[in-house]
Amino acid sequence: RTVLVAGGTGFIGSHLCKFLQKNGYGIQVISRMPGPLNISWNDLSAKGLPDKIHAVINVAGQNVLDIKQRWTPGFKQNVYNSRINTNKILSNAIMNATKKPKVFITISGVGIYEPDSKKEYNEYSEVKGYDFLSKMCLDWEKAAFLEENPCRHVNIRSGVVLDRDGGMVQQLYLPFFFGLGGPVLPGSQYLPWIHMRDLCRMFLFCIENEKLNGILNGVAPQIISNSDFSEAFAKAMKRPTLIPVPEFMLNILLGRDRANMLTKGQRVYPKRAMDMGFSYKYPNIEDACREIVQKPSE
Ligand code: NDP
Repeated sequence: RTVLVAGGTGFIGSHLCKFLQKNGYGIQVISRMPGPLNISWNDLSAKGLPDKIHAVINVAGQNVLDIKQRWTPGFKQNVYNSRINTNKILSNAIMNATKKPKVFITISGVGIYEPDSKKEYNEYSEVKGYDFLSKMCLDWEKAAFLEENPCRHVNIRSGVVLDRDGGMVQQLYLPFFFGLGGPVLPGSQYLPWIHMRDLCRMFLFCIENEKLNGILNGVAPQIISNSDFSEAFAKAMKRPTLIPVPEFMLNILLGRDRANMLTKGQRVYPKRAMDMGFSYKYPNIEDACREIVQKPSE
């Protein structure tokens, strides 16, 4: 059984490919770069889905928090197009395929929910665009729409994905290692999170659970704040949390739209994921951080 993974070269994609292979699946990757398992976006548009694809996954997208990139209109367009266009190309390929896959699984972000200090969101909450990134999330999810239900579609709204070799943890590892880490202020903002292993397990759950359709929140059930995360991470690293990161610095460094991803947060609960029977290996932030910090780097 082969799974086609768009963005399979990235942080999430490469972990997901390895995890699916360990679970007995074959992998093909869609990438802008050539490689032994890779097919290109042009090939996919021109020739359609390869034969005998059991599931199609899209975890592609230009890295939003790349601090080398200024938040210019051109970069924003790139961030937007790399998500919306890839979902559209894949949904078209699925609709046009003679032999359909069983399931199309896409990712988007919890940034679709408007930050609020009190409101708790779950998969049934109403969503409406309130800024550039949340409107992008709405369009991202819409772009995966499949006419006439050729197969199941599940979209995972992911929180911050935690693992050693990428994403937020990789950026924080050195400052925390040198005892220079701390929360992003104000610190009380929620930080929806998930351990990489649980996210990969959730993708597998979507492939194998033949009744599953619609939205799942890809977040751990434990609601934490940014300060809670810093404390758990520093404790796992056996370091103090002394130096908080002020909001104005991130606004300058990243631009306000992007800085909001760190300085504001949503209280998100995975109600539907749990109702559908998904269970977590790392429901608790202290265990998750300990596992991430203590495992040997790959
Ligand atoms: P990475 O940046 O590590 O990888 C993304 C992959 O997308 C790359 O390997 C690249 O593949 C492909 N890509 C990048 N730019 C483009 C582009 N312009 N056009 C087409 N493909 C492109 O990201 P992550 O693995 O961290 O995240 C994957 C997806 O999950 C993203 O869409 C992200 O927004 C979303 N997500 C991630 C979270 C996280 O905490 N990491 C949280 C919530 C959502 P190649 O170079 O091979 O073409």
